[in-house]
Amino acid sequence: MPTLVVYQNYVHGQYMPNGTGETFEVINPATGQVSYLVERADEAVQQAAINSAKSGFATWSKMTAIERSRILLKAASLLREHNDELAAGEVLDTGKPWQEASVVDVVTGADSIEFFAGLAPSIEGNQQQVGDDFYYTRREPLGICAGIGAWNYPLQIACWKAAPALACGNVMIFKPSEETPSGAMRLAEIFTLAGVPNGVFNVVQGDGRVGAWLTGHEDIAKISFTGEVTTGQKVMAAAAGSLKEVTMELGGKSPLIIFNDADIENAVSAAMLGNFYTQGEVCTNGTRVFVQKDIYPRFIKRLVERTEQNIICGDPMNTDTNFGALISKSHQQKVLDYIEIGKAQGATLLTGGKALQPENSPHGFFVAPTIFTGCTDQMTIAKEEIFGPVMSVLTFSDEEEVIRRANDSRLGLAAAVFTQDITRAHRVIHQLQAGICWINAFGASPAEMPVGGYKMSGIGRENGSETLKAYTQIKAVYVGMMPLESPF
Ligand code: NAP
Repeated sequence: MPTLVVYQNYVHGQYMPNGTGETFEVINPATGQVSYLVERADEAVQQAAINSAKSGFATWSKMTAIERSRILLKAASLLREHNDELAAGEVLDTGKPWQEASVVDVVTGADSIEFFAGLAPSIEGNQQQVGDDFYYTRREPLGICAGIGAWNYPLQIACWKAAPALACGNVMIFKPSEETPSGAMRLAEIFTLAGVPNGVFNVVQGDGRVGAWLTGHEDIAKISFTGEVTTGQKVMAAAAGSLKEVTMELGGKSPLIIFNDADIENAVSAAMLGNFYTQGEVCTNGTRVFVQKDIYPRFIKRLVERTEQNIICGDPMNTDTNFGALISKSHQQKVLDYIEIGKAQGATLLTGGKALQPENSPHGFFVAPTIFTGCTDQMTIAKEEIFGPVMSVLTFSDEEEVIRRANDSRLGLAAAVFTQDITRAHRVIHQLQAGICWINAFGASPAEMPVGGYKMSGIGRENGSETLKAYTQIKAVYVGMMPLESPF
């Protein structure tokens, strides 16, 4: 058996060995085989990452915004230059199809860096006269920010967190999911190559214990977290100890509402994109598909036809494959368990509902694209985030009913409406409790658009110019122009 490559933590512009020798395995979800090993960040690495970040901050925050912008633009262009190699790394770690990774994961990461690099020089304060005196404000960086990522879009998540943080003059210590550690390492290398000073983007590797260390650390000013609601709650509780700022990008159980007058092929495309893209492992997925009664028979017919005919599951590096493997064996089992619960609670399984062993990738963690009909709002599969390719189709009669049912969730990440009636589209969307909404569209998330959740789906936003505020703090400076009045 060939010796496995062992990756180290990325600290101060280079790879740093740990002292304990402790490593963990990274499994290729499409084969079930170990791809490589990664050293866990031990105490020495953690301390070095903090020391390095402090020195990185001293350099980076003193640079002009134009200088920072120029370097970040270089990083974005290097990401694009290395697109194919980076995308292949994401496929190896996540099991998602090359078809997607090669046109989405790296590209959308680079877009975000370009967007915030462009905005960096526009960050400004204001000034106001108060009698003869005046005050002015400065938008200053927060200091050391920590990014903690999920495993579904590893490189993109690292970019989306690093881009606004670095553009505003902060530095970042990033911990990727231990299931997908390579994207953040590659981003760190690219930052160094682009001229980002040492210590501005360090990567520490390991499981939740390393994440918990970051959330509790006094020298860290902010945590930007992407993951499950329950982990987010732990992170926020730990961050409260040192009153850190938090951005929380958490889970969803989003409604996709299809009215009778919707364009049927577009609506079917949205339901498939919103449940089967990245084999269902997307936080914004529209997993509660509400279909108005008249269009339901035609919708279901086309949905099943297209799902059974057009989805090609298999080796994710095969360019024909458009449906990949789930992240791990345990996640595959979790998704299969939800399918059993759906059946047991009386939902009708129309298609899928089982593990798959595609010929060209027989040992991967695949689950067939699965459609349940006859679902009710109370069923577990219609209430809980499954994070796999399991769609629950529900029917509805009128607008008021569907809005009430769509909002009957503690989550509020995304929502979509399909209709040709433009006034209804806006009227409905305005009443839905969700942070990311689409009308006759699904899944688009350009860097210009702020994204984040309502209710338990999160706090704060990523992307969009809004996000600059979350990575700066305001200093107000009052300037006295007259002799100081004093009773003493
Ligand atoms: P997760 O289990 O919550 O893990 C997220 C990250 O937190 C991982 O890096 C994890 O490390 C780390 N972690 C675990 N325990 C921690 C602790 N006590 N303190 C600090 N960090 C800790 O989530 P996941 O399974 O990776 O990702 C799937 C979830 O992410 C889904 O719920 C999905 O909806 C959500 N998500 C949301 C968005 C969004 O933008 N709203 C985007 C993508 C994904 P290890 O995994 O290495 O242990």
